[in-house]
Amino acid sequence: MNESQESKRLLPPHLKPIDTNGPPQRITVCTRPFRASGPRIEAERLGDQLLIHNYGHGGSGWSLSWGSATRVLNLLRDAHPRTLDVAVIGAGAIGITTALTLQRAGFIVSIYAQDPPLQTRSARATGSWTPDSRIALGEAVSVRFEDAWRRLASETFAAFQAYTSMTSRPVEWVDRFVLSDTQPDPQRAEFDRRDSHGFFKCSLHLANSSPLMSFIPRDQSPFPTPYAWRSRSLTFNLGVLIPLLLEEFQRAGGRLEACTFRTPADLSKIRERLIANCTGWGARHLFGDKSLTPIRGQIAWLPAQTNLRYGLLYGDLRIVCRQDGIVVQHSREGDDTGWNDASETPDAEEATAGLKALATLQASMKERTRKVPMLRRALNADIF
Ligand SMILES: Cc1cc2nc3c(=O)[nH]c(=O)nc-3n(C[C@H](O)[C@H](O)[C@H](O)COP(=O)(O)OP(=O)(O)OC[C@H]3O[C@@H](n4cnc5c(N)ncnc54)[C@H](O)[C@@H]3O)c2cc1C
Repeated sequence: MNESQESKRLLPPHLKPIDTNGPPQRITVCTRPFRASGPRIEAERLGDQLLIHNYGHGGSGWSLSWGSATRVLNLLRDAHPRTLDVAVIGAGAIGITTALTLQRAGFIVSIYAQDPPLQTRSARATGSWTPDSRIALGEAVSVRFEDAWRRLASETFAAFQAYTSMTSRPVEWVDRFVLSDTQPDPQRAEFDRRDSHGFFKCSLHLANSSPLMSFIPRDQSPFPTPYAWRSRSLTFNLGVLIPLLLEEFQRAGGRLEACTFRTPADLSKIRERLIANCTGWGARHLFGDKSLTPIRGQIAWLPAQTNLRYGLLYGDLRIVCRQDGIVVQHSREGDDTGWNDASETPDAEEATAGLKALATLQASMKERTRKVPMLRRALNADIF
């Protein structure tokens, strides 16, 4: 392979600039339902009802969803129920995947939820494979937690593979570039974010889930940083994925009912005696779970651009080019951003700062690419 071919391999032709002119299309905010001890997945008796809790997935709800749903199925089976009718409370990432998992196993499932799937907090997520994002505090969990977490993550990863071959691309592998001004361990570059809480992190890679990163030699890199790596990342195009999951559920006879439960006693009013509680942050109010801490997160959305399929991670800036929009996230305090903040009011300043940081990065890339002829050839014509 000659030099130019090698840089083509490292820099795909679709590394085109993102149009940052104009204000964001919209700003969305949501709350990560964080528990220091990790998600609560356990059974509890409530009068004559069997309640299986499945909530508290922090910043990893999509990435641990199918594995958590399988835990619910196993707990339900262990209880040897005399009925197949199950109610799932909640229609976010956890509720919809729990409903589908139970339905596929033969249960007759109804979802009761205050917000329909596309209006849940889950629908406002970045849409990346992030199984250990603000999922627990390192000091509050044991080695057993790590084993259980690993199972949840690997089962979820495996389940999402079935969606990567669909032509509508609900889930897809995209290139991801990690940039750094200092020399971190590339496999931990994402972990070296500010974190004064000591969040649980797992450096061990799940089989094939996080492909190793290739270092991009400086003379072949269009990025202004001394260090840049290319990797691949599993991306959830939630605007496509959520309707697809809902359609499967409803086609198989699943029922979705708008409903708000004010207290646990309200649950006795529904017909079903088996209940999966997938209320996320809502569990703090409904079940008085004070161990749930809100972690606020915000995204400034740019309109989707055809053929832009990559992600960028540079310090506090995270970009994900999704089929249904471009995510610009600027977390000024790294992983500490939004700790114990339940406000879901958009912060226009934070959004502008993210867009500015992206525009500055792209201006430096343009400058660098103009100066280095080999990069211009490798990146092909109209880019940067
Ligand atoms: C900015 C941001 C980016 C994120 N990015 C990612 C990512 O890239 N990858 C990832 O894996 N995770 C990500 N997350 C985390 C992920 O969004 C959450 O872990 C996930 O949304 C939790 O899903 P859930 O179904 O438990 O909760 P929710 O999505 O909040 O759903 C809860 C459901 O329960 C219903 N409900 C609640 N209370 C009641 C009640 N009393 N009565 C009736 N219904 C009720 C709600 O209406 C809703 O339908 C991100 C989070 C944030 C904030």
